[in-house]
Amino acid sequence: MKSIRSQLSLTILFLVLITVGLVGLFSNVFINKAFTHYLTQQGKVRTKDIVLDIERYYDSFTNSWNRENLHLIGMYSMYEGYLVKILDKDGAVIWDAENHDCWRVMEEITKDMKNRGMNKQYFVDTYDMKGEGDQKIGSVSVTYYGPNFLSEADYSFIHDLNKILLIIGMISGFFSIVVGTVLAGRIARPVGKTARIATQISKGDYEIRFERNTNTRELYELTTAINDLADALNEQDKQRRRMTTDIAHELRTPLTAVSAHLEAMIIGIWEANPERLKGCYDEVKRLESLVADLGKLAKIEDENLKLNKTTADLLCISQTVFENMRAEADKKHLSVSVSGNPVFVEIDKDRIHQVITNLLSNAVKYTQEGGTIRLEVEESERYGIVKITDTGIGIAEAELPFIFERFYRTENSRNRKSGGAGIGLTIAKSIITAHDGELDAKSQVGAGSCFVIKIPKN
Ligand code: ADP
Repeated sequence: MKSIRSQLSLTILFLVLITVGLVGLFSNVFINKAFTHYLTQQGKVRTKDIVLDIERYYDSFTNSWNRENLHLIGMYSMYEGYLVKILDKDGAVIWDAENHDCWRVMEEITKDMKNRGMNKQYFVDTYDMKGEGDQKIGSVSVTYYGPNFLSEADYSFIHDLNKILLIIGMISGFFSIVVGTVLAGRIARPVGKTARIATQISKGDYEIRFERNTNTRELYELTTAINDLADALNEQDKQRRRMTTDIAHELRTPLTAVSAHLEAMIIGIWEANPERLKGCYDEVKRLESLVADLGKLAKIEDENLKLNKTTADLLCISQTVFENMRAEADKKHLSVSVSGNPVFVEIDKDRIHQVITNLLSNAVKYTQEGGTIRLEVEESERYGIVKITDTGIGIAEAELPFIFERFYRTENSRNRKSGGAGIGLTIAKSIITAHDGELDAKSQVGAGSCFVIKIPKN
């Protein structure tokens, strides 16, 4: 597997080299074309100049040519790469480069061009020369290597250009490696670190956290996700440990009491009268209900709570729960009322029955004799709502955030015999959350509590 660093550097290098290569290729092609065009034009202009020069040395009075000057023009042109052949009006040769060792010069030029990788050919342009009265005075044929041949300056211009492009390519290649390495390092370092931290988390080190000092959004999100994952695992781990301790504690206390009482009765320290046996029986019952609650909770959490939803009336359920609890409420002389209109929502009827039962039973448990409990059913635009309000002992503000946790019991209720194991609200919350609803509590110590269930209508 390749690292991000090498992949990114190689990609950037590749792109830079392709870009520089393409610029080099296109500039060479275009410059060559432009040169060819320019030099072809130049060649034509030069050929015409030569012809005009030659024409000047015709004497129309004597109808003769100044052969000395023609020789100079011919030789001069030859060294420029133009082979001149001058004929008079009758076609007789006046001056011919071929008679002046021209091929040696041209061979040199040809060899030079070939050495530079240029394969061109000879062209011949022929012009008629006119004198006074538009009379033909002769003709000139100019042979040149072309359509052009590159002068030393032209050649070195192209050579220099390619050299510059090569240098640019090398410099850009170098910088692309540097930039690629730095850039890739910026990405690879935190990714590598995240991977190491994730490995440590997977080995059970849930306290470890990642410092989010990156300004790359995706990396920030990745590290945040890893930190959140560690938080969640840490919390789960703590809960698991706490739960084991709590269960052990909850079971140990009544079991110790029962076994001590039974032992005392067996060895005859205590007489096994109905009152003492009833005490043991109550403890065993408490254990039974605790185990049953734990079973319910385990089931709810295990199944991820599969709901059997039907349309049901919250008011009707509240009334049934109230009827079931009436005897208990009467024992404490509590005034319990149910009010509101029917509100139909899609719910698992039995589960919601269980929630309202848990909340109403708490209200009965934690309200002193003669207190008041109100069960109100109402609805808002989005929710069906059930409110259970009591005038009981209340819950301290500092404890409110914890009451839905497993085995949590407030200081106040722990001192009371009537308290349960602290699972009822956990079960209620799980059921309401599974309905995508909300379960909240407001309370004031000494004044009472209000639990609000909100269930979405659809
Ligand atoms: P428990 O079985 O102990 O009642 P719950 O999970 O139902 O467990 O409740 C958790 C704790 O929240 C209780 O122990 C009690 O301290 C507190 N609580 C719940 N309902 C009320 C209430 N209506 N008034 C006062 N305290 C309450």
